[in-house]
Amino acid sequence: MLKIKNVTKYYGTFKAVDNLSFTVDKGEIFGLLGVNGAGKTTTFRMIMNLINPSEGSITFNGKKIDYDVTDNIGFLTEERSLLTKLTVKEQILYYGALKSLDEETILKRLDRLLKKFGIEEYKDRKINTLSKGNQQKVQFISAIINEPKLLILDEPFSGLDPINIELFKSVILELKEKGTSIIFSSHRMDHVELFCEKLVILVKGKSVLEGYLKDIKKDYKIKKIKIEGDVKITELRKIDGVINAIKTASGYEVNIKDESYVNNVFEYLKTKKNITKFVLEEPFLEEIFVSKVGEAYGK
Ligand code: ATP
Repeated sequence: MLKIKNVTKYYGTFKAVDNLSFTVDKGEIFGLLGVNGAGKTTTFRMIMNLINPSEGSITFNGKKIDYDVTDNIGFLTEERSLLTKLTVKEQILYYGALKSLDEETILKRLDRLLKKFGIEEYKDRKINTLSKGNQQKVQFISAIINEPKLLILDEPFSGLDPINIELFKSVILELKEKGTSIIFSSHRMDHVELFCEKLVILVKGKSVLEGYLKDIKKDYKIKKIKIEGDVKITELRKIDGVINAIKTASGYEVNIKDESYVNNVFEYLKTKKNITKFVLEEPFLEEIFVSKVGEAYGK
């Protein structure tokens, strides 16, 4: 288990991370979320022991993270950092050796992973001749060649097309099944929502929301109702408890203060004809994120 306890990081007098605590269990996928400059990369760098926390402690399975432990960690950095004059094979041999693996093991794993990512034919090609997406695959392979127990992914999906996003996701889920603890950052809430179980939202280095995604959604009082049929948006907006109503491609979406106001909307719809859809839905993570970040900035 990864344990971050009361971690604070100053750059000079600037506090980039402020008293942050969370845990990531074995086989758990954890999302570290926040707008630009919130402190995500700083947190990852502290976990990787590339920089020291000013206060607090970081442990993995009860041990401080040092060179012994980092052999069991994989890190995909946000800025792509491949040695582009090397071939794919040379690059992975280099990274594998840094993680104390022998050549035979590295090459066996490399073949399997190249096949999985559909880039077997690039094994002996120089990295600078590959497309951006394929370079990202190579970087991802270098992060997981040691079959890490802890995998840190800083914006793993940025720049990928939807097909490759699915491919990356399936590999990440496979690692989860094998018991790897995975912590990742993303600006795309729809990606986070699809496969992260637990998360923290950072604003200016401080956690403004944390916990299991399903609890966060349950606890978030504002709910959404989807409606299809002949209704008037101006009338929807006047119903007691309705915060907002918008027209969508297929109908209407109504935000209500909390579940107790569902009945008010239902009573209104009873006065209308041709209602073909009335569904109460959990909010999207995106909405919760925007609301929490907005609150923290006093908006
Ligand atoms: P992004 O999503 O843009 O990558 P982030 O959440 O990863 O952002 P960090 O890179 O951790 O954010 O930066 C957090 C804050 O710390 C920012 O205000 C940044 O300017 C500042 N910062 C980061 N590195 C340094 C440094 N080496 N010296 C001084 N300030 C720094």
